[in-house]
Amino acid sequence: MNQDLLNEEEQLLKNTVADFSDKVLSERAALYDESGKFPWDNVSEIGQLGLFGLTIDEEYGGSGGTTRQLVVAAEEIARGCAATSVVYIAHLSLCTQYINMFGSAEQKAKYLPGLTSGQKIGAFALSEPGAGSDAANLKTGSVKTNGHFVVNGTKTWISNAPEADVMVTMVTQDSTLGYKGIDSLIIDGDLDGITVNKLNGKMGVRASTVGEIIFDNCHVPVTNRMGGDNVGFRQTMSVLNASRISIGAQCVGIAQSALEASIDYAKTREAFGSPIGDLQAIQWMIADMATETEAARQLVMKAATLRDNDLPFATEASMAKLYCSRVAMDCAYKAVQIHGGTGYFAPTPVERIFRDARVTEIYEGTSEIQRLVIARNLLRD
Ligand SMILES: Cc1cc2nc3c(=O)[nH]c(=O)nc-3n(C[C@H](O)[C@H](O)[C@H](O)COP(=O)(O)OP(=O)(O)OC[C@H]3O[C@@H](n4cnc5c(N)ncnc54)[C@H](O)[C@@H]3O)c2cc1C
Repeated sequence: MNQDLLNEEEQLLKNTVADFSDKVLSERAALYDESGKFPWDNVSEIGQLGLFGLTIDEEYGGSGGTTRQLVVAAEEIARGCAATSVVYIAHLSLCTQYINMFGSAEQKAKYLPGLTSGQKIGAFALSEPGAGSDAANLKTGSVKTNGHFVVNGTKTWISNAPEADVMVTMVTQDSTLGYKGIDSLIIDGDLDGITVNKLNGKMGVRASTVGEIIFDNCHVPVTNRMGGDNVGFRQTMSVLNASRISIGAQCVGIAQSALEASIDYAKTREAFGSPIGDLQAIQWMIADMATETEAARQLVMKAATLRDNDLPFATEASMAKLYCSRVAMDCAYKAVQIHGGTGYFAPTPVERIFRDARVTEIYEGTSEIQRLVIARNLLRD
């Protein structure tokens, strides 16, 4: 154990990904933000480092490892480039992990090797124009016929959709059944009857492409359903619970990058004849940012450690997502303040970080939904 309370293996992983983040991801982040293009070279290098296989069974091409290792990697990726970390988490914690947790041996053998190597891109399609927080109200329908589910409907705001080879998609055979009617299907992106429209105009995390997926009589083999009847929603919530820990780590990475940029700037920017870091007002902001970021990191680590020990972790995962997203926003806000006018203009990193942080309070369950989950769990006990 070291000062970060990481074991030797975790520290080694942190050093490797931190080096990649400093030398590669952060160098490219501004260009990707400007172009809004999918970061193929980052994805390819993340694949080469074996990071898409973290927590995935080695039998299916994964690299195994723990949730703690996954959050160490996710934090470092987000510290260098938040948009790339969205691609990473949607691909690994949502799509790949779903198949790893609930796929049959055949489904895992067919899909996981391509996903863990990064040769195939994964997406997780739950949200619809009329069903975001109220996910159980989804309407994308599937009708079982002659060995297929025929899927019709529209998904929206789906990360990685424009590039996705594999889409874990939630559908309903009978929307009057609510959450009980929901199935999860593995849908190949190249099937007939799928149109993906890239959604433009995103505030932040711009290189993480997002799409609308329209299914029009798309025939999905029945062998591509994960689990049996009435379990799709429960499976989906389990995957989201686990993935919220990764989003917490992403937020810590964003907060840490805001903190580091602020410390550097405070040492060099002068006002009234000395560095602004000599001013107590600036020192207090930096002290608060560092304290909040560290507290957020420990909350993420606690949720991850609980999960690794097969203990209940859903409440802590929601706490991590709720608190860490608040911290990412607060640190981004303070970082812009410390940078003054410079911080309001691109390509100052904190201008991008400020926009990137905002979405963390919205996706994978808004902050209001996290509070609802936390309170419901506490009041039920
Ligand atoms: C960049 C980006 C990427 C995304 N990626 C994906 C993805 O990969 N896959 C996917 O499936 N989805 C994805 N989403 C969708 C995201 O999960 C939803 O936007 C989110 O769940 C909120 O749903 P909504 O936008 O419909 O908001 P709504 O549900 O309409 O909520 C609007 C407001 O009402 C509040 N609210 C709603 N219900 C309650 C309640 N019961 N109590 C208190 N307040 C409530 C919300 O907190 C929010 O403030 C993404 C979204 C974005 C912006």
